[in-house]
Amino acid sequence: MFASLIQFIREQYRTNDFIPLHAPVFSGRERDYVLETIESTFVSSVGAFVERFESDMAGYTGSQKAVATVNGTAALHTALMLAGVQSGDLVITQALTFVATCNAIAYCGAQPVFIDVDRHTLGLSPLALEKWLEEMARKDDDGTCRLKSTGQVVRACVPMHTFGHPVELDSLVAVCARWGIALVEDAAESLGSFYKGRHTGVFGRVGVLSFNGNKIITTGGGGMILADEDLGRRAKHLTTTAKQPHPYEYVHDEVGYNYRLPNLNAALGCAQLEQLEDFIAAKRKLASAYSTALQGSDLRFFTEPDNCRSNYWLNAVICEDSKARDRLLKETNEGGVMTRPIWQLMNHLSMYGGCLRGDLTNSEWLAERIVNLPSSVISELPD
Ligand SMILES: *Cc1c(COP(=O)(O)O)cnc(C)c1O
Repeated sequence: MFASLIQFIREQYRTNDFIPLHAPVFSGRERDYVLETIESTFVSSVGAFVERFESDMAGYTGSQKAVATVNGTAALHTALMLAGVQSGDLVITQALTFVATCNAIAYCGAQPVFIDVDRHTLGLSPLALEKWLEEMARKDDDGTCRLKSTGQVVRACVPMHTFGHPVELDSLVAVCARWGIALVEDAAESLGSFYKGRHTGVFGRVGVLSFNGNKIITTGGGGMILADEDLGRRAKHLTTTAKQPHPYEYVHDEVGYNYRLPNLNAALGCAQLEQLEDFIAAKRKLASAYSTALQGSDLRFFTEPDNCRSNYWLNAVICEDSKARDRLLKETNEGGVMTRPIWQLMNHLSMYGGCLRGDLTNSEWLAERIVNLPSSVISELPD
């Protein structure tokens, strides 16, 4: 039934071997830069590539500051601390996300609240958010948003740009501002994705990126915090064991974290970032080919929302129902073409099953139907 799709994917990747969902491509100066760190002996948390990666990333995203971390989850944890999330707080996010979003909330001793996503963005719905707040929350005279029933503070809201497709940021920024909630963007999947000409991750108080092995660029493992000068400085402090600058004394002024990105990894990141726009061009070309190939079929190829340039990190199709999804998954994987369903909804996981949630109709609908297709960058054949 999906033989022609499998055939099409094999033609794109020009192979009869196993085709992974997403494999990294190292076609730039990765070897040179990594070797440079070894030859300099600066492979660990101090080194020129860390600073360069941070300033390159700030330049690319338009963020005032960018602070590198050991992974995206650590960046999220730090971002939530920067947003003032404390034990006992509530933090709004999507049920349709990767588990790291919720884990970071839990690390702060806070509890996630699950709000529905929109079908046209796959990300947090501003309307659903507003509706839930109207019903469940109040805003105190001091500007703090609290749950009416328990008085718990609703401290932050963490939308996630699913598969690199930007959420409706203008509306989310407005709702969060109106309710006094800090906006923290989980832009782990959306490096290179722009909303109305601005890079994702710079719309709220703080944003985070990930450079895990399966992301659009990789440092092996790594992440980045995007913030303004003040919060950026604070992020650096928190992620470097809260050590005060001193020529030789060890002075630490609070409980800090060792969340720094090693120079070795940053070297890889600098080389990868140099190729990002080429990667995105290749991914957008592949997405367009998928879209054309699937026209008239039972699979709806998911395309970027209006006014956005998406990085098309992972290509996605929406199947007619869960039966069709299961068939697609079975046939492609048996045929040596790796495809995956979207994550289980967070409220279905044992540790987050008891969390507050709004109506999740769209999340449930999408979770039953979405399948990711192979999305690795295809290098151009030499002419
Ligand atoms: C990848 C990812 C993260 C962070 O992941 P790390 O593997 O810790 O770098 C966070 N949120 C989402 C949505 C992700 O996809």
